[in-house]
Amino acid sequence: MIASSLPSWETASPAHICPFDQACSYLEQAGKELKLDAGILEVLSHPHKVVTVSIPMKRDNGEIQVLAGHRVQHCDVLGPYKGGIRYHPAVTLREVSALAMLMTWKCALLGIPYGGAKGGIAIDPKKYSVGELERITRRYTSELIKDIGPSVDIPAPDMGTSAREMAWMMDTYSVNVGHAVPGVVTGKPLSIGGSRGREMATGRGVMITVREALADMGKSLQGVRVAIQGFGNVGSAAAILLHQAGAKIIAVSTGGGGVYDDYGLDIPALKAYTAQNHRSVVGFSPGVAISNAELLTLPCDVLIPAALENQITEENVKEVQARIIAEAANGPVTLAANQYLESQNITVLPDILANAGGVVVSYLEWVQGLSYVFWDEERVNREMEQLMVQAYRQVMQESKTRGIPIRLAAYSLGVGRVAQAWSDRGLYP
Ligand code: GLU
Repeated sequence: MIASSLPSWETASPAHICPFDQACSYLEQAGKELKLDAGILEVLSHPHKVVTVSIPMKRDNGEIQVLAGHRVQHCDVLGPYKGGIRYHPAVTLREVSALAMLMTWKCALLGIPYGGAKGGIAIDPKKYSVGELERITRRYTSELIKDIGPSVDIPAPDMGTSAREMAWMMDTYSVNVGHAVPGVVTGKPLSIGGSRGREMATGRGVMITVREALADMGKSLQGVRVAIQGFGNVGSAAAILLHQAGAKIIAVSTGGGGVYDDYGLDIPALKAYTAQNHRSVVGFSPGVAISNAELLTLPCDVLIPAALENQITEENVKEVQARIIAEAANGPVTLAANQYLESQNITVLPDILANAGGVVVSYLEWVQGLSYVFWDEERVNREMEQLMVQAYRQVMQESKTRGIPIRLAAYSLGVGRVAQAWSDRGLYP
């Protein structure tokens, strides 16, 4: 296995689910498949730049706290670094580094001219006031001022952040450099150069890949039974769009538990309920209460993990009944669980494909901003769909031609394009 290049002070996760080691392991598999030069593989297994800044902040009660803010820039051979900013208690430098690497392959796979990055702060945003979150975000941005920029590194929302945080980042960056720079972030509010369709984009991409996978099996979305873990920005958008397309969403869960209805949940009503219920689906009716663990093993056609990493593991994978798993979250299936699913011929639509709709529309937002021309939502959705379907077909073709599982095919395409660009550019000096 490729040696982890991260600082030793970073708390190690249990070996079998260390996200960075898992990411390196997939890279290694793709390298073997592509017969990549060992030197290139070594380069790609290291993040280019790892930044950790201290964020001193004053809480509303006057107490001073110092938080750690990370930004990892994995590889920029294809273009500026790109990737989200995550606010979640489980954020570690290892996790951020793994997610930065995934962004590199994701952008390459989708054919968009970016390198991969990710950022994060280990906080539970629910435990901070809006004012506190604004102070944290502004100081974090200010500390990263030399490392980000519209042609350097372009942050976007991720778990625990949204258009609101992007507006604060854009404003802080702009004030620091002395003029408005909307292109420094994507996923911004429409009022400052955001793109139509960005908010639903990741969920829309999930719906598109599931629809394509079903079509390859001679099926449509009509009446298909779907279980979704997570009802945040991604899970709820996927649920709404799949519901609109005729699928039956039989179960949905959020942090505190889930709700199940064999006849199919009323998704618009559930969305309205969560808005009133601190974003939780718990207590929704009609529906039966289930746990997050139970949701993963329900009898259904399609399972969509849209929450955290490492949800489908060696422990529960044998009970999974779905025939298609669409990874709306990043890394929800562990390496060992993935091996089992592949041995059972279960279609796993990997994260770097299934959840790429978000970064694709980020790219479309950036393009619109740089050209000062803004499109209607129909055009955004059409352009995004084209890129998603094209990537889906390329992955399936690669899987067939090489006789390899879908995930390895997706990685081989992404890693192969980056490796090609790297060798074309050459090593300086
Ligand atoms: N956070 C999203 C992802 O993981 C979007 C990143 C972006 O738009 O740059 O793909």
